[in-house]
Amino acid sequence: MTIWRQLRWRIIAAYMLVVIVGVVTLAWMANIVSEHTVATAVNELSASVEGMGMQATDEQLSTILLTSVRATVTQSLVVAGLAATLVGGIASVLLVREILLPLRQITQSSQRIAAGHYDERVAVPTSDELATLATNFNQMAIALEQVEQQRIALIGNVAHELRTPLTGVEGYLEGLVDGIFSNDPETLNAMQHEVRRLRRLVDDLQTLSRVESGQIELQLTYFNLIPLLQRVVEQLRPQITAQNLTLDLTDRPDSLQVYADVDRTAQVLINLIGNAIQYTPEGGSITVRVQGGDRKVQISVQDTGIGIPAESLPYLFERFYRVDRSRSRSSGGSGIGLTITRHLVWAMGGDLDVASDGPDQGSTFRFTLPLSG
Ligand code: ADP
Repeated sequence: MTIWRQLRWRIIAAYMLVVIVGVVTLAWMANIVSEHTVATAVNELSASVEGMGMQATDEQLSTILLTSVRATVTQSLVVAGLAATLVGGIASVLLVREILLPLRQITQSSQRIAAGHYDERVAVPTSDELATLATNFNQMAIALEQVEQQRIALIGNVAHELRTPLTGVEGYLEGLVDGIFSNDPETLNAMQHEVRRLRRLVDDLQTLSRVESGQIELQLTYFNLIPLLQRVVEQLRPQITAQNLTLDLTDRPDSLQVYADVDRTAQVLINLIGNAIQYTPEGGSITVRVQGGDRKVQISVQDTGIGIPAESLPYLFERFYRVDRSRSRSSGGSGIGLTITRHLVWAMGGDLDVASDGPDQGSTFRFTLPLSG
C-alpha cells in the first residue's frame, strides 16, 4: 500500500500501535489480576457477612464484585485509551510536521537549484540531525553558486582574452582593405604575431581544461633532472642574454633521479624560468636551486625582479589572474600559465608555491617532484 511508504503515516501508525498494545495489555492484565483479587475479597466478605448473621453464596458475592471491578476497569480503559489516542495523535502530527516540513523544503529547494536558482537556501530547523542536513544542504548550494559564478567569469575572461588578438587582426585586415597598410612583410608579420598569440591562447585553454579535469596523460618515468634543467636553461639563454640577466645554476647536485613526466617537467621549468626572465628588469639575476630530500626534490626559481604584492599572492595561481594586467598583456601573457603549471605539478605528485617580500623585492617559486613512484 502506497500510504505506508509515507513517513507521516508510519509515525502515526507507530504511535497508535503503542496505544493499542498498552490498552490491550492493561485489559488482559486487569482481567487476570481482578479474578485473583475478587476471590480473596469474596473470602473476606463471606466471613464478615456470616459474622453479621446474613446469608450469601460465594458465587453471588463473586459475581457482584467481578462485575463492578470489570466495569471500573473498562471505564478507566476507555477514558485512558481515548486520552492516549488524543495525545498520541497530537504528538505524532507535531513530530511529522517537525520532520516533514524541513524535508519538503529541502526537496523543493533542490528542485529550484536544479532549475538554475543557485541562490536558493533552506531555513535551519532546531533539531540537531535536521539542522546538520539543512546546513550541509546550504553549504552545497553555496559551493554550486560559486562554481556557477566561476563558470560565468571564465566565459567572460575567455571572451575578453580572445578579443585582444582578434581586434588586432581585424585592424590589420581593415587597413589592408582600405589601403592604409600595404601588403608588405612588416604588416604580414604583425598579423602573424597576433594570430600566433590567438593560437597560443587557444592551446593554453585546451591544456587548462585537460589539466583541470584530470584528463592529462602523463608518461611517468625515472630520469635525471639535471640535464633536463640545463637543456631548458640553454633553450631560454637567448632571452636571458637579450635582457642582460644572469642565471645561476650552480647550487645543485651533479645527478638527481626523479620520478615524473619529462616533457611536463620541462614545461613547468620553462614557465617558471620564463616568468622570472619576463618579470626581472635588465641587469637582474635568476637563481635556480635543486635540493634533494628524503622522498622529494625541491626546485626553486628565485629572481631579483619586480616582486609580487602580498595581497596578490593568494590569487596568483587562479586562472587569468595577473598582478599588472597591462604589463603582462603587452607581452602576450594571459595569466593561465601558472594555473596550468600548478596542476601539472600536482598531477606528478608534487606541489608548487610562491613567496615574495613585495614589489621590487623579487620572487621565489618552489616546486617539488617525487624521487620515487
Ligand atoms: P602570464 O602569462 O600573464 O605571465 P602566469 O600565469 O604565468 O601568466 O602568471 C600570472 C601572473 O603572475 C603574471 O601576470 C604576473 O603578474 C605574476 N608573476 C608570475 N611570475 C612572476 C615573477 N617571477 N615575478 C613577478 N610576478 C610574476
